[in-house]
Amino acid sequence: MEWTQSETIALASLTCTTCHGSGQRVMRDGSSCPCNCVLRAVFRACYARFRYCIFRERNVSRATLEQTHMGGRRITWGRKDEEYLADFYLVSRRSLGHMEWRVFCYHYLLGADWKLCAKRLGLDRGTFFHVVYRLQHRLGRVFKELQPYALFPIDEYFQGRTHNTAEEGGPIKVVPFRKGSLSRRLQVPIRKAA
Ligand SMILES: [Zn+2]
Repeated sequence: MEWTQSETIALASLTCTTCHGSGQRVMRDGSSCPCNCVLRAVFRACYARFRYCIFRERNVSRATLEQTHMGGRRITWGRKDEEYLADFYLVSRRSLGHMEWRVFCYHYLLGADWKLCAKRLGLDRGTFFHVVYRLQHRLGRVFKELQPYALFPIDEYFQGRTHNTAEEGGPIKVVPFRKGSLSRRLQVPIRKAA
């Protein structure tokens, strides 16, 4: 997937000593790739939205109807907050290695500070933060490049249209809400005081 400079420059850190604010790194073979400061910014934005979706008021979550980009009678519904929470959690779990996932759970979900994490995982301070940066880079890239629905940019995830493969002109397939399905919230293992 191509990262354009107009995307990376808006996310880059002006104090980054690698890209000097351009957001692009030039590799040895001449190709360019997003700088790690950009990947960290993507991760931080997605993580902030994840926390926002979890801690907002319970009754705010609601189902929304969406037209698909194919138009016609194709309409689908979804609960975007819950979908985002599930995507963030499951994509992270699938993308991280064993140690990275443990650090992610302790530090980002359960809210333990670096001292508690390092003691629990048997890591020194330098190794702990090395793992933290590595998982941020990995997840930042995955969240942006995920197909078909990337988690970043966040506004496109929430405002974009869902692909519905129902045939044009065919009968509308109605999928009823299951009893109680709209009042249940996804339970994600996270500590509020993180
Ligand atoms: Zn940079």
